[in-house]
Amino acid sequence: MHLPFCETKCHYCDFFSVPALGQDIDGTLQAVLAEARTRAPLHPKTVFIGGGTPSLLNENQLHVFLTELNAITHFQDSATEVTLESNPESVTRDKVALMLDHGVQRLSIGFQSLEPQTLELFGRVHSVDQSFRAHDAARAAGMQDLNLDMIYAAPGHDAAGWEKALKRVLELKPDHLSAYNLAFEEDTVFSRWLRNGEVQKLPEEIELEMFQTTREVTRQYGMHAYEISNYAQPGRACKHNENYWANGEYVGIGPSAVSYVNGVRGGSPRAIAPYIKSINKAGHAVDWTERLSPRQSLGETWWLGLRRSAGVTPEKARAAAHFTEAQDPMLPQAELLVEQGLLELVEGSFRLTQRGIPLADRVAAEFLGDGDS
Ligand code: SF4
Repeated sequence: MHLPFCETKCHYCDFFSVPALGQDIDGTLQAVLAEARTRAPLHPKTVFIGGGTPSLLNENQLHVFLTELNAITHFQDSATEVTLESNPESVTRDKVALMLDHGVQRLSIGFQSLEPQTLELFGRVHSVDQSFRAHDAARAAGMQDLNLDMIYAAPGHDAAGWEKALKRVLELKPDHLSAYNLAFEEDTVFSRWLRNGEVQKLPEEIELEMFQTTREVTRQYGMHAYEISNYAQPGRACKHNENYWANGEYVGIGPSAVSYVNGVRGGSPRAIAPYIKSINKAGHAVDWTERLSPRQSLGETWWLGLRRSAGVTPEKARAAAHFTEAQDPMLPQAELLVEQGLLELVEGSFRLTQRGIPLADRVAAEFLGDGDS
Protein backbone atom coordinates (compact mmCIF):
# COMPACT_ATOMS: atom_id res chain seq x y z
CA MET A 1 0.00 0.00 0.00
CA HIS A 2 1.48 3.32 -0.98
CA LEU A 3 0.28 6.39 0.94
CA PRO A 4 2.21 9.23 -0.66
CA PHE A 5 2.20 11.97 1.98
CA CYS A 6 5.20 13.27 3.92
CA GLU A 7 5.91 16.33 6.03
CA THR A 8 8.39 17.59 3.44
CA LYS A 9 10.43 16.03 0.67
CA CYS A 10 13.77 14.57 1.73
CA HIS A 11 16.68 15.61 -0.43
CA TYR A 12 17.69 12.07 -1.41
CA CYS A 13 14.20 10.65 -1.98
CA ASP A 14 13.02 9.44 -5.39
CA PHE A 15 9.85 7.75 -4.18
CA PHE A 16 6.60 9.32 -5.22
CA SER A 17 5.65 11.42 -2.21
CA VAL A 18 4.39 14.95 -1.69
CA PRO A 19 4.26 17.33 1.28
CA ALA A 20 0.96 16.66 3.02
CA LEU A 21 0.00 20.26 3.68
CA GLY A 22 -3.01 21.25 1.58
CA GLN A 23 -3.46 17.78 0.07
CA ASP A 24 -6.76 15.90 0.03
CA ILE A 25 -5.57 13.15 2.34
CA ASP A 26 -9.04 11.78 3.13
CA GLY A 27 -9.99 11.72 -0.54
CA THR A 28 -6.79 9.87 -1.40
CA LEU A 29 -7.32 7.34 1.39
CA GLN A 30 -10.83 6.69 0.10
CA ALA A 31 -9.46 6.16 -3.42
CA VAL A 32 -6.79 3.76 -2.11
CA LEU A 33 -9.50 1.80 -0.28
CA ALA A 34 -11.67 1.79 -3.41
CA GLU A 35 -8.72 0.34 -5.34
CA ALA A 36 -8.21 -2.23 -2.59
CA ARG A 37 -11.85 -3.28 -2.99
CA THR A 38 -11.24 -4.17 -6.63
CA ARG A 39 -7.66 -5.49 -6.53
CA ALA A 40 -6.38 -6.37 -3.07
CA PRO A 41 -6.05 -10.09 -2.43
CA LEU A 42 -8.25 -11.63 0.23
CA HIS A 43 -6.36 -13.02 3.20
CA PRO A 44 -2.90 -11.64 2.31
CA LYS A 45 0.13 -13.24 3.95
CA THR A 46 1.94 -9.96 4.45
CA VAL A 47 0.92 -6.31 4.28
CA PHE A 48 3.31 -3.39 3.93
CA ILE A 49 1.85 0.07 4.42
CA GLY A 50 4.49 2.42 3.13
CA GLY A 51 4.89 5.54 1.09
CA GLY A 52 5.32 8.28 1.95
CA THR A 53 4.91 8.48 5.69
CA PRO A 54 1.77 6.61 6.76
CA SER A 55 2.42 7.54 10.40
CA LEU A 56 1.53 11.14 9.67
CA LEU A 57 -2.13 10.15 9.35
CA ASN A 58 -4.02 11.23 12.43
CA GLU A 59 -5.56 8.66 14.73
CA ASN A 60 -8.99 8.91 13.16
CA GLN A 61 -7.58 8.51 9.64
CA LEU A 62 -5.51 5.51 10.75
CA HIS A 63 -8.54 3.98 12.46
CA VAL A 64 -10.79 4.40 9.42
CA PHE A 65 -8.14 3.22 6.97
CA LEU A 66 -7.00 0.13 8.87
CA THR A 67 -10.55 -0.87 9.83
CA GLU A 68 -11.76 -0.64 6.27
CA LEU A 69 -8.69 -2.37 4.87
CA ASN A 70 -9.35 -5.25 7.23
CA ALA A 71 -13.03 -5.37 6.20
CA ILE A 72 -11.89 -5.65 2.57
CA THR A 73 -9.00 -8.13 2.90
CA HIS A 74 -9.41 -9.74 6.36
CA PHE A 75 -5.66 -9.26 6.75
CA GLN A 76 -5.91 -9.48 10.52
CA ASP A 77 -6.91 -13.15 10.22
CA SER A 78 -4.27 -14.09 7.68
CA ALA A 79 -1.19 -11.89 7.68
CA THR A 80 1.85 -13.02 9.62
CA GLU A 81 3.50 -9.65 9.11
CA VAL A 82 1.88 -6.22 8.83
CA THR A 83 4.39 -3.38 8.60
CA LEU A 84 3.75 0.35 8.74
CA GLU A 85 6.42 2.88 7.83
CA SER A 86 6.88 5.87 10.07
CA ASN A 87 9.03 8.88 10.74
CA PRO A 88 10.00 10.06 14.22
CA GLU A 89 8.06 13.33 14.18
CA SER A 90 4.73 11.54 13.83
CA VAL A 91 5.14 8.54 16.13
CA THR A 92 3.34 8.74 19.47
CA ARG A 93 2.59 6.08 22.01
CA ASP A 94 -1.17 6.45 21.47
CA LYS A 95 -0.82 6.16 17.73
CA VAL A 96 1.29 3.03 17.97
CA ALA A 97 -1.23 1.54 20.44
CA LEU A 98 -3.94 2.24 17.89
CA MET A 99 -1.89 0.61 15.14
CA LEU A 100 -1.42 -2.48 17.30
CA ASP A 101 -5.18 -2.59 17.98
CA HIS A 102 -5.76 -2.56 14.24
CA GLY A 103 -3.41 -5.39 13.34
CA VAL A 104 -0.12 -3.60 12.61
CA GLN A 105 2.60 -5.85 14.00
CA ARG A 106 5.77 -4.25 12.75
CA LEU A 107 6.86 -0.63 12.74
CA SER A 108 9.65 0.79 10.65
CA ILE A 109 11.08 4.09 11.87
CA GLY A 110 13.25 6.31 9.66
CA PHE A 111 16.12 7.40 11.90
CA GLN A 112 18.47 7.89 8.93
CA SER A 113 21.22 9.65 10.89
CA LEU A 114 22.25 10.55 14.42
CA GLU A 115 24.02 13.72 13.33
CA PRO A 116 21.94 16.94 13.41
CA GLN A 117 23.88 18.42 10.49
CA THR A 118 23.30 15.28 8.38
CA LEU A 119 19.58 15.27 9.18
CA GLU A 120 19.52 18.85 7.96
CA LEU A 121 21.48 17.96 4.82
CA PHE A 122 19.00 15.14 4.18
CA GLY A 123 16.07 17.57 4.54
CA ARG A 124 14.65 15.61 7.46
CA VAL A 125 12.26 17.46 9.74
CA HIS A 126 12.98 15.57 12.98
CA SER A 127 15.77 15.82 15.51
CA VAL A 128 17.97 13.03 16.81
CA ASP A 129 16.11 13.21 20.14
CA GLN A 130 12.80 12.77 18.38
CA SER A 131 14.10 9.56 16.81
CA PHE A 132 14.92 8.11 20.21
CA ARG A 133 11.62 9.33 21.66
CA ALA A 134 9.71 7.70 18.78
CA HIS A 135 11.55 4.46 19.40
CA ASP A 136 10.77 4.57 23.13
CA ALA A 137 7.12 5.42 22.47
CA ALA A 138 6.77 2.48 20.09
CA ARG A 139 8.28 0.03 22.57
CA ALA A 140 6.24 1.50 25.45
CA ALA A 141 3.06 0.98 23.42
CA GLY A 142 4.03 -2.67 23.00
CA MET A 143 5.42 -2.80 19.47
CA GLN A 144 7.46 -6.00 19.45
CA ASP A 145 8.87 -5.89 15.95
CA LEU A 146 10.83 -2.75 15.11
CA ASN A 147 12.91 -1.85 12.11
CA LEU A 148 15.17 1.18 12.16
CA ASP A 149 16.36 2.77 8.91
CA MET A 150 19.78 4.38 8.64
CA ILE A 151 21.74 5.90 5.76
CA TYR A 152 25.51 6.05 5.64
CA ALA A 153 28.16 7.56 3.37
CA ALA A 154 26.63 11.03 3.27
CA PRO A 155 28.96 13.88 2.30
CA GLY A 156 31.14 14.70 5.29
CA HIS A 157 30.69 11.29 6.94
CA ASP A 158 33.62 9.30 8.22
CA ALA A 159 33.89 5.64 9.11
CA ALA A 160 34.54 6.22 12.82
CA GLY A 161 31.47 8.44 13.16
CA TRP A 162 29.33 5.87 11.37
CA GLU A 163 30.52 3.08 13.64
CA LYS A 164 29.69 5.13 16.72
CA ALA A 165 26.20 6.01 15.44
CA LEU A 166 25.55 2.44 14.40
CA LYS A 167 26.46 1.11 17.81
CA ARG A 168 24.21 3.67 19.47
CA VAL A 169 21.32 2.54 17.29
CA LEU A 170 22.04 -1.14 17.89
CA GLU A 171 22.12 -0.57 21.66
CA LEU A 172 18.36 -0.05 21.24
CA LYS A 173 18.17 -3.71 20.22
CA PRO A 174 16.08 -3.25 17.10
CA ASP A 175 14.68 -6.43 15.61
CA HIS A 176 15.74 -5.29 12.16
CA LEU A 177 18.03 -2.69 10.65
CA SER A 178 18.02 -1.37 7.11
CA ALA A 179 21.28 0.46 6.40
CA TYR A 180 21.70 1.89 2.93
CA ASN A 181 24.52 3.92 1.52
CA LEU A 182 23.35 7.26 0.23
CA ALA A 183 22.29 7.03 -3.40
CA PHE A 184 22.23 10.08 -5.64
CA GLU A 185 19.05 9.17 -7.50
CA GLU A 186 17.93 11.14 -10.53
CA ASP A 187 15.50 13.99 -9.96
CA THR A 188 16.46 14.48 -6.34
CA VAL A 189 17.94 17.51 -4.67
CA PHE A 190 21.09 15.50 -4.00
CA SER A 191 21.58 14.66 -7.68
CA ARG A 192 21.24 18.36 -8.52
CA TRP A 193 23.75 19.28 -5.82
CA LEU A 194 26.13 16.66 -7.17
CA ARG A 195 25.81 17.97 -10.73
CA ASN A 196 26.43 21.52 -9.55
CA GLY A 197 29.42 20.49 -7.47
CA GLU A 198 27.71 21.53 -4.22
CA VAL A 199 28.27 18.09 -2.67
CA GLN A 200 30.67 15.30 -3.41
CA LYS A 201 30.33 11.57 -3.11
CA LEU A 202 32.56 9.91 -0.57
CA PRO A 203 35.42 7.91 -2.07
CA GLU A 204 34.42 4.33 -2.81
CA GLU A 205 36.93 2.90 -0.35
CA ILE A 206 35.32 4.85 2.52
CA GLU A 207 31.86 3.64 1.48
CA LEU A 208 33.23 0.13 1.44
CA GLU A 209 34.78 0.54 4.87
CA MET A 210 31.41 1.73 6.23
CA PHE A 211 29.67 -1.20 4.61
CA GLN A 212 32.15 -3.69 6.11
CA THR A 213 31.78 -1.97 9.49
CA THR A 214 28.01 -2.37 9.25
CA ARG A 215 28.31 -6.08 8.62
CA GLU A 216 30.82 -6.58 11.40
CA VAL A 217 29.04 -4.48 14.03
CA THR A 218 25.59 -5.92 13.30
CA ARG A 219 27.13 -9.39 13.64
CA GLN A 220 28.51 -8.44 17.05
CA TYR A 221 24.95 -7.48 18.03
CA GLY A 222 23.58 -10.86 16.94
CA MET A 223 22.09 -9.73 13.66
CA HIS A 224 22.21 -11.64 10.42
CA ALA A 225 23.00 -9.87 7.13
CA TYR A 226 20.25 -11.63 5.22
CA GLU A 227 20.26 -9.11 2.38
CA ILE A 228 22.99 -6.76 1.29
CA SER A 229 21.46 -3.76 3.13
CA ASN A 230 19.22 -5.54 5.63
CA TYR A 231 20.07 -7.09 8.97
CA ALA A 232 17.78 -9.00 11.31
CA GLN A 233 17.71 -10.69 14.66
CA PRO A 234 16.93 -14.42 14.29
CA GLY A 235 13.43 -14.88 12.89
CA ARG A 236 12.97 -11.17 12.20
CA ALA A 237 13.80 -10.94 8.50
CA CYS A 238 11.12 -8.94 6.69
CA LYS A 239 8.81 -11.53 5.13
CA HIS A 240 7.25 -9.02 2.77
CA ASN A 241 10.59 -8.05 1.29
CA GLU A 242 11.80 -11.64 1.25
CA ASN A 243 8.96 -12.41 -1.14
CA TYR A 244 9.92 -9.43 -3.28
CA TRP A 245 13.59 -10.47 -3.37
CA ALA A 246 12.55 -14.00 -4.31
CA ASN A 247 10.78 -12.38 -7.29
CA GLY A 248 7.44 -13.52 -5.92
CA GLU A 249 4.14 -11.95 -6.91
CA TYR A 250 2.76 -8.90 -5.14
CA VAL A 251 -0.09 -6.44 -5.50
CA GLY A 252 0.67 -2.76 -4.98
CA ILE A 253 -2.16 -0.35 -4.19
CA GLY A 254 -2.06 3.44 -4.19
CA PRO A 255 -0.52 6.19 -6.35
CA SER A 256 2.73 4.99 -8.01
CA ALA A 257 2.37 1.50 -6.51
CA VAL A 258 3.76 -1.33 -8.62
CA SER A 259 2.31 -4.83 -8.89
CA TYR A 260 3.77 -8.03 -10.30
CA VAL A 261 1.24 -10.72 -11.10
CA ASN A 262 1.33 -13.53 -13.70
CA GLY A 263 4.54 -12.24 -15.27
CA VAL A 264 3.08 -8.77 -15.81
CA ARG A 265 4.42 -5.77 -13.99
CA GLY A 266 2.25 -2.68 -13.83
CA GLY A 267 1.93 0.53 -11.91
CA SER A 268 -0.34 3.43 -11.07
CA PRO A 269 0.30 7.09 -11.94
CA ARG A 270 2.91 8.97 -9.96
CA ALA A 271 0.43 11.76 -9.30
CA ILE A 272 -2.53 12.00 -6.97
CA ALA A 273 -5.21 13.71 -9.05
CA PRO A 274 -4.97 11.34 -12.06
CA TYR A 275 -4.86 8.41 -9.66
CA ILE A 276 -8.09 9.44 -7.91
CA LYS A 277 -9.75 10.23 -11.24
CA SER A 278 -8.95 6.76 -12.64
CA ILE A 279 -10.10 5.01 -9.51
CA ASN A 280 -13.39 6.90 -9.51
CA LYS A 281 -13.91 6.16 -13.20
CA ALA A 282 -12.63 2.61 -13.57
CA GLY A 283 -12.00 1.21 -10.07
CA HIS A 284 -8.33 0.81 -10.89
CA ALA A 285 -5.52 3.10 -11.98
CA VAL A 286 -3.21 1.03 -14.11
CA ASP A 287 -1.00 3.56 -15.85
CA TRP A 288 1.52 1.23 -17.45
CA THR A 289 2.20 -2.49 -17.80
CA GLU A 290 5.02 -4.62 -19.14
CA ARG A 291 5.00 -8.34 -19.74
CA LEU A 292 8.30 -9.90 -18.81
CA SER A 293 9.50 -12.85 -20.84
CA PRO A 294 10.46 -15.89 -18.76
CA ARG A 295 14.09 -15.10 -19.70
CA GLN A 296 13.81 -11.55 -18.36
CA SER A 297 12.04 -12.74 -15.28
CA LEU A 298 14.78 -15.33 -14.69
CA GLY A 299 17.45 -12.62 -14.98
CA GLU A 300 15.60 -10.49 -12.44
CA THR A 301 15.24 -13.44 -10.10
CA TRP A 302 19.03 -13.82 -10.10
CA TRP A 303 19.58 -10.08 -9.83
CA LEU A 304 17.35 -9.81 -6.78
CA GLY A 305 18.37 -13.15 -5.27
CA LEU A 306 22.11 -12.60 -5.30
CA ARG A 307 21.67 -9.72 -2.88
CA ARG A 308 20.36 -12.22 -0.32
CA SER A 309 22.69 -14.26 1.83
CA ALA A 310 20.69 -17.36 0.86
CA GLY A 311 21.74 -16.76 -2.74
CA VAL A 312 20.07 -18.30 -5.78
CA THR A 313 19.17 -21.94 -6.31
CA PRO A 314 18.92 -22.33 -10.10
CA GLU A 315 15.92 -24.71 -10.03
CA LYS A 316 13.99 -22.45 -7.68
CA ALA A 317 14.84 -19.42 -9.80
CA ARG A 318 13.57 -21.17 -12.94
CA ALA A 319 10.35 -22.13 -11.17
CA ALA A 320 9.83 -18.57 -9.88
CA ALA A 321 10.36 -17.21 -13.40
CA HIS A 322 8.23 -19.93 -15.10
CA PHE A 323 11.26 -20.63 -17.26
CA THR A 324 10.84 -24.05 -18.91
CA GLU A 325 13.62 -24.28 -21.51
CA ALA A 326 16.11 -27.11 -21.10
CA GLN A 327 19.20 -24.88 -21.00
CA ASP A 328 19.49 -22.47 -18.09
CA PRO A 329 20.97 -19.29 -19.66
CA MET A 330 22.14 -18.00 -16.28
CA LEU A 331 24.47 -20.88 -15.46
CA PRO A 332 27.39 -19.93 -17.76
CA GLN A 333 27.41 -16.44 -16.27
CA ALA A 334 27.20 -17.81 -12.73
CA GLU A 335 30.05 -20.25 -13.41
CA LEU A 336 32.20 -17.48 -14.86
CA LEU A 337 31.69 -15.43 -11.71
CA VAL A 338 32.62 -18.48 -9.63
CA GLU A 339 35.89 -18.70 -11.59
CA GLN A 340 36.48 -15.01 -10.89
CA GLY A 341 36.01 -15.62 -7.19
CA LEU A 342 32.92 -13.44 -6.91
CA LEU A 343 30.35 -16.23 -6.47
CA GLU A 344 30.53 -19.62 -4.79
CA LEU A 345 28.29 -22.64 -5.07
CA VAL A 346 27.23 -23.83 -1.64
CA GLU A 347 24.76 -26.69 -1.23
CA GLY A 348 23.18 -26.05 -4.60
CA SER A 349 22.93 -22.25 -4.26
CA PHE A 350 25.07 -19.58 -5.87
CA ARG A 351 26.09 -16.95 -3.33
CA LEU A 352 28.35 -13.95 -3.26
CA THR A 353 31.78 -14.65 -1.83
CA GLN A 354 33.41 -12.34 0.71
CA ARG A 355 35.09 -10.69 -2.27
CA GLY A 356 31.82 -10.48 -4.18
CA ILE A 357 29.69 -9.05 -1.35
CA PRO A 358 30.96 -5.46 -1.61
CA LEU A 359 30.44 -5.67 -5.38
CA ALA A 360 26.91 -7.06 -5.06
CA ASP A 361 25.26 -4.44 -7.29
CA ARG A 362 27.70 -4.99 -10.12
CA VAL A 363 27.74 -8.78 -9.85
CA ALA A 364 23.95 -9.05 -9.68
CA ALA A 365 23.55 -6.71 -12.65
CA GLU A 366 25.50 -9.19 -14.82
CA PHE A 367 22.31 -11.26 -14.94
CA LEU A 368 20.09 -8.52 -16.31
CA GLY A 369 20.25 -9.10 -20.04
CA ASP A 370 17.94 -8.02 -22.82
CA GLY A 371 16.38 -11.46 -22.82
CA ASP A 372 14.32 -12.08 -25.89
CA SER A 373 12.87 -15.55 -25.44
S1 SF4 B 1 9.98 10.61 4.52
FE1 SF4 B 1 10.56 8.87 3.22
S2 SF4 B 1 9.09 8.86 1.51
FE2 SF4 B 1 8.95 10.86 2.55
S3 SF4 B 1 10.26 12.20 1.38
FE3 SF4 B 1 11.48 11.38 3.08
S4 SF4 B 1 12.45 9.51 2.27
FE4 SF4 B 1 10.82 10.09 0.85
